[in-house]
Amino acid sequence: ALAVSLRGVTKAYDNGITALGPFDLTVRKGEFISLLGPSGCGKSTALRIIAGLSAPSSGTVRVARHKGSVQPGHVQPGHVQPGHVQPGHGIGFVFQEPTLMPWTSVRENVRLPLRLARVPKADARARADEALASVGLADFADAYPRELSGGMKMRVSLARALVTDPEILLMDEPFAALDEITRFRLNNDLLALWRRLGKTVIFVTHSVFESVYLSQRVVVMTARPGRIQADIRIETVEPRG
Ligand code: ADP
Ligand code: ADP
Repeated sequence: ALAVSLRGVTKAYDNGITALGPFDLTVRKGEFISLLGPSGCGKSTALRIIAGLSAPSSGTVRVARHKGSVQPGHVQPGHVQPGHVQPGHGIGFVFQEPTLMPWTSVRENVRLPLRLARVPKADARARADEALASVGLADFADAYPRELSGGMKMRVSLARALVTDPEILLMDEPFAALDEITRFRLNNDLLALWRRLGKTVIFVTHSVFESVYLSQRVVVMTARPGRIQADIRIETVEPRG
């Protein structure tokens, strides 16, 4: 079954920059792929289009929003579907900046998507704690973001993206700002999570090492406008994660 299908997708911004395409990509459910390419080639644009945060200028976008089905999520050119990326729509997004709310606890930060989805408080709290445990932060639910290291903030951001149990996890250079050791630990923990949870992951990175280490497929993009230059299957003998 397919998680994501992009057909002939292009993106021209209002300022005349053509960022993407034509771009064709299919991702199977449960696959872990990396998008690799020079800065400005349209990787973030591709992720935002998949997430429904940005509308393509042309082409067709289909995204499996819920477990078990690919819905015909055709995004009309020039029209962003309202609420497409809202909780419950099967997409989790992790950015390079953890973008946590500083005035409230780690648990409340992770619970936010469930609040927006009007999940009852006790249930939401339990699910937030479960998501925090899955990223190794069971003991930090009551802490405040400022008390955490960069790597821990990224873990909170990951827990927040996973708390709605999305089908698809989109990650835009999530670990780029972290030191090498923290980054390597996060790589390993992300792999273990992927194996356990069976999510579809699309991981944008500048790191060839990271793309090969993490993913089953490395999709290399051309410089702007971003097209697919190579789509490489990574074979491993060792089990992942
Ligand atoms: P990448 O993630 O590969 O670095 P982006 O998708 O962020 O690339 O950007 C691709 C190109 O589109 C860049 O030239 C960038 O400056 C431009 N761009 C990105 N977002 C916008 C926007 N909102 N408005 C205008 N141009 C944009
Ligand atoms: P990255 O390389 O990490 O993807 P970018 O610098 O491409 O980051 O983009 C960061 C943000 O700035 C994005 O949300 C993008 O939409 C916006 N952006 C990037 N380039 C432009 C631009 N030329 N005009 C307007 N917004 C832009």
